Parts: sequence; C-alpha cells; structure tokens
Amino acid sequence: MVFKLPLDQVDELRKTKYNATVVELKKAHSDLMILRVKPDKPIRPHRAGQYTLLGLGYWEPRFPGCQEENLPDEEVSKLARRAYSISSSILEPDGSYLNPGEKDWIEFYIVLVRETGRPVAPALTPRLFNLEIGSRLFMGEKITGHYNLSHVKPDDDVVFFSTGTGEAPHNYMALELLRNNHQGKIISACCVRYGKDLGYRNVHDVLMKKTRNYNYIQLTTREGDVAQKRYLQDLVRSGGIDSILGYKLDPEKTHVYLCGNPAMIGAPFKHPETGVRTYPKPEGIIEILESRGFSADQGHGHAPGNVHFEEYWS
Ligand SMILES: Cc1cc2nc3c(=O)[nH]c(=O)nc-3n(C[C@H](O)[C@H](O)[C@H](O)COP(=O)(O)OP(=O)(O)OC[C@H]3O[C@@H](n4cnc5c(N)ncnc54)[C@H](O)[C@@H]3O)c2cc1C
Repeated sequence: MVFKLPLDQVDELRKTKYNATVVELKKAHSDLMILRVKPDKPIRPHRAGQYTLLGLGYWEPRFPGCQEENLPDEEVSKLARRAYSISSSILEPDGSYLNPGEKDWIEFYIVLVRETGRPVAPALTPRLFNLEIGSRLFMGEKITGHYNLSHVKPDDDVVFFSTGTGEAPHNYMALELLRNNHQGKIISACCVRYGKDLGYRNVHDVLMKKTRNYNYIQLTTREGDVAQKRYLQDLVRSGGIDSILGYKLDPEKTHVYLCGNPAMIGAPFKHPETGVRTYPKPEGIIEILESRGFSADQGHGHAPGNVHFEEYWS
C-alpha cells in the first residue's frame, strides 16, 4: 500500500475526518461491491431513493490497475467525496423483508470506475475498492434528494429503468413499496454489460417467486449474440415493456423512474431564456415516453411529472 503522506499523519487525518465504519462488504466481482456502512451518529430520517455522500482522503492508496492520478500537494490532505444512492438487499437471509428503520447501517452498491477517459483520474472509487470490513471512511450526515416515491399512489404501476449501479435506489424504493403492500405492478429493468454485473440478481429471483406483482428484467449488452443486443431504450421503443406489463404503458396510472447513465435517460436541455426543451441524440427514454403522453419532472416551480430521473454523471 502506498500512502501519499507519512503514516502518523495518515492516522491523525483518519481520526479527525472519518465518521463511519464498514460493517459488511460483498464483492460481486473485483469491480463491483455491496457495502454496508455504520455512521458514528444515528442515521437521519430519509426516504427510499435518496442519496448521501461517501468520502476517503486523497492520502489513501489507490486500487491497482486504475488511471494514474496527478495530485497537487495541497490536495493530498483533503477528502474525495461523491454522491451515492442508498441501496437495499430487500430481503433478510430468512426471506422476510428488511426493515431499514431497525438497522444502524446503510447499504451502497458501487462500481469501480478505473478510467474516466479524461486527463483527471477518477478520485474516489479507486480508493473505495481498497476498503475492508472495519475500515473507517467519511459518510455525509445529510441524506437528501428529490428521487423518491412521494407521488406514487397505492394502485399505480411503477417501472424502474437503470443502468449498472443505477439499480441502487430502485432496490430501496421496491422495498418501500413491497413493505407497504403496494397493489400496482412493480417492474425493475436493469441494463449491464455482463450477467456478472447484476450484483442483486439472486435477490430479484427470490422476490419474483415470492411476490405476485414484482418483475425484474435484465438486459446484457456484451453477452450472447451481439447483433441482438438490446438497450432499455429499445425495450420501451419496441413495446417490449408493454408486453411485460400486459398493456401499453399508461401515463394515467404509471410512474417511471430512470437512474444511471445520462444517455439512457435522455433528459432534455432547457434553454434558459426561451424555455425551449431540446432532447439529446441518440434518443433516450424520456423522449420516447414524452411522445406517448408522459411528462418528465422539470424541477422547482413545475408540477411533478410521472417520469422521474437521477443522472449519475453529466
Ligand atoms: C445522486 C447521485 C447518486 C449516485 N449514486 C451512485 C451509486 O449508488 N453507485 C455508484 O456506483 N455510483 C453512484 N453515483 C456516481 C458517483 O457519485 C461517482 O461519480 C462514481 O462513483 C465515480 O466516482 P470517482 O470519484 O471514482 O470518479 P469521478 O472522478 O467522479 O469520475 C466520474 C466519471 O465516472 C463515470 N461514472 C460515474 N459513476 C459511474 C457509474 N455508477 N457507473 C459507470 N460509470 C460511472 C462517468 O464517466 C463519470 O464521468 C451517483 C452520482 C450521483 C450524482
């Protein structure tokens, strides 16, 4: 392990800047993990779907095989902090629903970003992937975010679309719905490169057997016949999702949640003066759904839509 500062300084910085401990860590593979973190202070009330911050010092070593980082000396004693949605494994080992209110830890689902494709190297995940059970780190006390179930009625159908770890808030929201005995359908569709990138696949398999109104759809883009590869956008455009629902996606009784890669989401850019909205190309799910009568959230000062989204980067 190569630290960027003398060890006594590392010890002191860890003592003053860290406020939480890793209590569980499960790697689906070398680059994907489910992490449970217990903060020193009690967890603040929050909603399923929201996020908080995790952080580690720039002085911490980086996971091997990641983009090289060129750090100015004055940055070394600072914290690298990033937003993470709160996730959930949904089920206890005995198959009953988890009760998040009873737990003194919070779950996260994180992928290792080895390279950014830009001169600035990824800061946090190459450090998070050195964590072990018992490691200390920073966790934000504030849990926040507009991405939650506040507008969903008990009979509404809820469709979650995610790429990769964008599934995290959907798992927690699915748990909230299932614990509340939600009457509408719950469909969660996740697109990854390989099957091994579905860190919660077993949970979803059990849930589908246990629950009449829960359905999990997995799409892989780098497995099988590459010519056949499908993205979530294709599933919506082609009507594949309608077949799974059993009827055409209905804006009157459906809330759609989109989380992860901004290209999948396709949030329109709104011109600050004219207010004209322009969709990005290629077409994302928002454009397809808005052509079918749905409307995406537009933020403060606007009525909430029935398509809600959380972009993991811009
Ligand atoms: C509200 C919110 C919630 C988030 N929740 C999660 C979460 O639950 N799990 C999670 O893994 N990430 C999540 N992210 C992304 C996270 O904040 C970091 O950006 C990510 O972990 C990379 O951090 P980094 O410092 O290593 O790289 P950075 O220096 O932040 O590099 C950013 C680049 O990494 C890529 N990237 C970022 N996130 C991902 C990702 N999830 N999958 C693939 N590529 C990515 C993009 O190309 C992006 O430009 C969330 C982001 C936001 C805004």
